[in-house]
Amino acid sequence: MIIAKFGGTSVADSNCISRVLEIIQNNPNQQVVVVSALSGITNMIQESAHCAASGDLKYQKILSEIEARHFACIKKLLPINKQSQVLSHIKQQINSLSTLHEGVYLLRELSPRTKDHMLGFGELLSYYIIAKTAIAQNLDVGLENARNLIFTKNDIEKNSVDQQKTFDSIRSYFKKSKHRVTIIPGFVASDEEGAPTTLGRGGSDLTAALIASALDAEKLEIWTDVSGMFTAHPKYVKQARAIKKMSYYEAMELSHFGAKVIYPPTLQPVMEKNIPVIVKN
Ligand code: ASP
Ligand code: MG
Repeated sequence: MIIAKFGGTSVADSNCISRVLEIIQNNPNQQVVVVSALSGITNMIQESAHCAASGDLKYQKILSEIEARHFACIKKLLPINKQSQVLSHIKQQINSLSTLHEGVYLLRELSPRTKDHMLGFGELLSYYIIAKTAIAQNLDVGLENARNLIFTKNDIEKNSVDQQKTFDSIRSYFKKSKHRVTIIPGFVASDEEGAPTTLGRGGSDLTAALIASALDAEKLEIWTDVSGMFTAHPKYVKQARAIKKMSYYEAMELSHFGAKVIYPPTLQPVMEKNIPVIVKN
């Protein structure tokens, strides 16, 4: 079993998503695929939520842009006869997100709990579109909302994971579901009361690591827009180069000191099981 996580830049638009599906298709292993929101969407929701809280109706414009980007993907990725069901599901999700914004706008109040609920919509939109496209391409695909698998303790500001409950749910789900590929949204989780939470910004990596650890995966692949952990930020330092191999501790230290490629809490669960983490471009 391989766990592959595709970040926002890897699923930015329909072309990127098509390439992701090719990668999945060409890999004969049983795979769990964890996806981020389309790149920029979580930031857009953050902005729209803050607009609503400050009484700025610009939130409606941002939500329309979010809808348009997802609709464009569906129209490019799916054959016409399979579009309407996916379009209507995405529309329903956007309507729910819009209702939450109306509430925030009316109350002029954005609690951490409400914000977490809103921010998770990006992944719920992306994983659904990607999974439905994979199914339309006749891949043997299961899809599951990570809110049924990943659980946080009730300290949402800190987003700490209830590892036992999470591992139990992941194992019991995969005991029953035997698809070649399972597509799961990163980042989103539920708290002890079943309320929507997240694993914190950048948290899709951690979703994948938790699944890898719970299932004793062979490896964890993190697909992104850089070819590994670099000696410096490759966007700013021309001579920066990818480091071929490093220990978990070195990777952890680098991620804590600013290497953005891996979300810092990601390494703990895989390190416990000695599961290799491979960063791929
Ligand atoms: N979409 C979320 C974020 O932008 C989670 C992730 O991509 O890892 O923070
Ligand atoms: Mg990331």
